[in-house]
Amino acid sequence: MSDTKHNWTKEDILEIYNKPLMELLYEAATVHRVNHDPNVVQVSTLLSIKTGGCSEDCGYCPQAARYHTNVKGNDLMSVPQVKAQALRAKASGSSRVCMGAAWRNVKDGEEFDTVLEMVRTINKLDMEVCCTLGMITENQAQRLAEAGLYAYNHNLDASEEYYKEVISTRGYQDRLDTIDNVRKTNVTVCSGGIIGMGENIEDRAGMLVALSTLNPQPESTPINALVAVEGTPLEDEKPVSIWEMIRMVATTRIVMPETQVRLSAGRTQMSREGQAMCFFAGANSIFAGDKLLTTPNPDVNEDLKMFELLGLNPQKPFTKKVQPQTVEANDSEFESLGEKPKWTRPKHKIERNELAKEKGKLVK
Ligand code: SF4
Repeated sequence: MSDTKHNWTKEDILEIYNKPLMELLYEAATVHRVNHDPNVVQVSTLLSIKTGGCSEDCGYCPQAARYHTNVKGNDLMSVPQVKAQALRAKASGSSRVCMGAAWRNVKDGEEFDTVLEMVRTINKLDMEVCCTLGMITENQAQRLAEAGLYAYNHNLDASEEYYKEVISTRGYQDRLDTIDNVRKTNVTVCSGGIIGMGENIEDRAGMLVALSTLNPQPESTPINALVAVEGTPLEDEKPVSIWEMIRMVATTRIVMPETQVRLSAGRTQMSREGQAMCFFAGANSIFAGDKLLTTPNPDVNEDLKMFELLGLNPQKPFTKKVQPQTVEANDSEFESLGEKPKWTRPKHKIERNELAKEKGKLVK
């Protein structure tokens, strides 16, 4: 039985985060070695299967239709297009494909059926399949599981308190409910957040409380550094320093010992030395490919060179959990319920989001 602790408090986490750096690194690296092979890093490819035009107001996101950014939207990709990209990702060393769609929540119907077919197709390529499609019901989670989904990503983004300063169109509890729906299946949970959105260290600790007190803890946790995109409400936020990133990764590793901690957005702003420190501090997963949905990411060859330099090996698929079996659409046990769940819309006003929206209207 796992002896992972699930009752972390903000005070416990702040104490860890604020330790002298060498002590923090030593502790995190020790926890890392007990729970993982320190020379193995998971490589995932993030694929934007439906980009832009999103109805939500997430302050960091260039895909929100209400802000004026350079993101060019596109309709849902086709299954053959996704298969071709997955094969390319596999050839360049990725063991997981994560498909992202800029949706508030999944709606039953043709598009979701297409996504289910994408899941079946990639699972048959013997790659781990992850989806990030917004909020989902239990039935939708079951249907994804049956198609062969390995992981579902739904980030908490921030602490519950600071979340209200970033997003007004969907509630924190809905996020937790979505994670709960995924937990009712065999699909693993991927959930993390973003630092550099103007939050303070207490807020970061609050986010780690929310993640680490989930029982079980998420199997993977992406730690993103904000990429401040012009036109979004957070366009003027200063980049996160590498020291903050290292502290955040190390603290996450200590409070979530078995989780795969992923360096996600913001890796282009980090030197190789900085990334090496993050791996030492317990990060053991990266996103590969030159784009992360819509923001830049290091080139695949650069990552291969970094792996060689550091003596790291890419993690093989299904190392942590066996491959799910794919059930074909015709043999499915679960029907589309055509549900219309009432996900909440808190709708409080966030001044910087309102300003960016007004600015967007003027430019458009
Ligand atoms: S983060 Fe997701 S839900 Fe929020 S605006 Fe972007 S695409 Fe929409």
